[in-house]
Amino acid sequence: MTEKRIDGKAVAQELRRAMAAAVTDLKAKHGLVPGLAVVLVGDHAPSEIYVRNKQKSAKEVGLNSYEYNLPASTSQKDLLKLIADLNVDKDVHGILVQLPLPNQIDPMAVLSAIDPAKDVDGFHVTNAGRLAVGLPAMIPCTPKGCLYLLKDHLKLPLAGMRALVIGRSNIVGKPMAALLLAEGCTVTVAHSKTKDLPAECAQADIIVAAVGRAEFVKGEWIKPGAVVIDVGINRVDDAAAAKGYRVVGDVDFNSAYEKASAITPVPGGVGPMTIACLLSNTIKAACVITGVPRPAV
Ligand code: NAD
Repeated sequence: MTEKRIDGKAVAQELRRAMAAAVTDLKAKHGLVPGLAVVLVGDHAPSEIYVRNKQKSAKEVGLNSYEYNLPASTSQKDLLKLIADLNVDKDVHGILVQLPLPNQIDPMAVLSAIDPAKDVDGFHVTNAGRLAVGLPAMIPCTPKGCLYLLKDHLKLPLAGMRALVIGRSNIVGKPMAALLLAEGCTVTVAHSKTKDLPAECAQADIIVAAVGRAEFVKGEWIKPGAVVIDVGINRVDDAAAAKGYRVVGDVDFNSAYEKASAITPVPGGVGPMTIACLLSNTIKAACVITGVPRPAV
């Protein structure tokens, strides 16, 4: 293991460098430029920031980025029509619809309409099902990034380790548990009905926290030497901060740092890995769709 504070920003930067080289190669050898369509409906401020970061990173590694900013009043029918068009667009290999969507639109109807081959978020039930039964699938970006940190960066011998995933959402908790299970971890999934979370934490060699509650997981719960991956992104008021708030994770970083052998900070941990994995999924989709050999990124 290299460092105690896992620098997700640096790991993601390294990945982006490798992806930029791979994209240059794909273009030169096969005339292929992977294309990512990012659809934003409405003006949800955090979503606008996420989408901007995704588009910026896509362009930086040489992908084509197609942006669709639709008004908050967009009907489900119109959004489904756009997705149908993107599904058959040969320049588009990945489609991302930023969540949450306005109330008049059913997110499951929209996610189900995306061609699973272009589903770079990995939210389509086909991809979720394929992941669950161990078939090749588009893996949701956040859990994919967490697994990269544990397996490829820290090089943990995952088989047989006890992993605790806190949270059971479709976008983080469930796919994270499936990935760790596939690696041979003994996986526990904790959630809002879990009776004694500190006792679950005390058993875990690896904790992945995806709860959505600021600094919720305490250092005193954590087994000495455990590896802690903090997925949470929470704003807490802070009059001393320039913006009037700070961004913190689901783990109380300072107390957890004392107990853990390695831990991701927030910001600068999982977040940059999520975006890197989105780009990696887009390259993968482009290669699978066009039948071009896939680079190792
Ligand atoms: P979610 O609200 O869909 O799920 C939260 C989960 O936490 C639920 O499954 C719930 O059962 C569980 N939970 C709630 N209270 C609990 C408790 N007291 N004990 C144990 N479990 C409890 O959230 P999500 O979409 O999975 O996101 C979780 C967090 O991760 C949020 O802060 C979100 O902003 C962040 N997130 C970060 C990234 C990233 O790129 N870093 C990506 C996705 C989500």
